[in-house]
Amino acid sequence: MKQIRIAIIGSTGSIGRQALDVVREQGERFRVVALAAGRSAELLAEQAAEMRPDMVCLTGASAIQDTPDSLRRGDWDLLCGEAELETLAALPQADVVLVATSGRVAMPATLAAVTAGKDVALANKESLVIAGDLVTRAAKRTGARLLPVDSEHSAIWQCLLGEDASTIRRLILTASGGPFRKRTIDEMAAVTVEDALAHPTWRMGPKITIDSATLMNKGLEAIEAHWLFDVPLDRVDVVVHPESIVHSLVEFIDGSLKAQLGWPDMKLPIQLALTAGARLPRPDPEKRPFDLATMGRLHFEPADLDRFPCLRLAIEAGMEGGTAPAVLCAADEVAVERFLRGEIRFMDIPRVVDAALEAHVPSRVESLEQLLAVDAEARQTAALACDRTIK
Ligand code: MG
Repeated sequence: MKQIRIAIIGSTGSIGRQALDVVREQGERFRVVALAAGRSAELLAEQAAEMRPDMVCLTGASAIQDTPDSLRRGDWDLLCGEAELETLAALPQADVVLVATSGRVAMPATLAAVTAGKDVALANKESLVIAGDLVTRAAKRTGARLLPVDSEHSAIWQCLLGEDASTIRRLILTASGGPFRKRTIDEMAAVTVEDALAHPTWRMGPKITIDSATLMNKGLEAIEAHWLFDVPLDRVDVVVHPESIVHSLVEFIDGSLKAQLGWPDMKLPIQLALTAGARLPRPDPEKRPFDLATMGRLHFEPADLDRFPCLRLAIEAGMEGGTAPAVLCAADEVAVERFLRGEIRFMDIPRVVDAALEAHVPSRVESLEQLLAVDAEARQTAALACDRTIK
């Protein structure tokens, strides 16, 4: 296998750090040619010193003089500011761009990478949920591949290898159900930030962990699956599976179902995306063999849209299409941030998202500029809705 050269956007976050672990484990298979991070300048400098990339970008700094010495000392090109992510995403010597940050900042970079014909290993949900139309159209034009990093989409991708897409009946996404799977609405009204951050099966960044607790994450994943696999949203189902062993399933037109199973471990989907589907050996994540016989039982239950209104809001916004998912994402980002700061309650998150969606008249997606304007407006509406809940 030829050495794969990767650019990582969001190298200091949860997915970025695990991707670098995969690079370390695989020795010469990968070479990191570019690293980008937001504000964790010291960790970025450490990573750069170890990986010796050609380019490093600190988006949280507006000028080179705002970056620490350790970043300026290297023999890499140093870029600053969010706008430079697009330069990094189109770096000629990169074979694949791993977009590992959460939030809308990664959207222009994803589009730039795809437009430059780069394969994109995509862990950023917003790129497809908000700009799926633009990104998939650009990918078709340039031949760039969108390689899923999310465990659910990786599972579906693996189930579809060797299959004809026209034979898909349904995609079935599994959801762990998060820490509040068994809580009543009243109990959920009183949960703390710490409760919501304690995910039972996956260790992830704070934004996605809260989104997993509200099931917003699963709604975003359903919209993402629609774009990635070109399956209408009404044929994407969600089933709660608390053990997170079955990572997702595909049902075919003959009634056959395929599933992908394994320990909950993000390094496998990350590695598989970076190799564009080629399998390489991996160390056992649990230091014990995967054994269904000792596992005994796996459980499945329906997702409750009354207790988890964020899932319903996401599906509705996805069905509505156009600019509605942009509003969904913006409002959710604002609400989750305010919840994490202790300013609104857990069950206010869907209220804020709902208020922003209600205030918006969706239109067709035309451009990134339009989406960013919709995003800015939705953030304002959401911020006001948060202020109202505080009183
Ligand atoms: Mg997931």
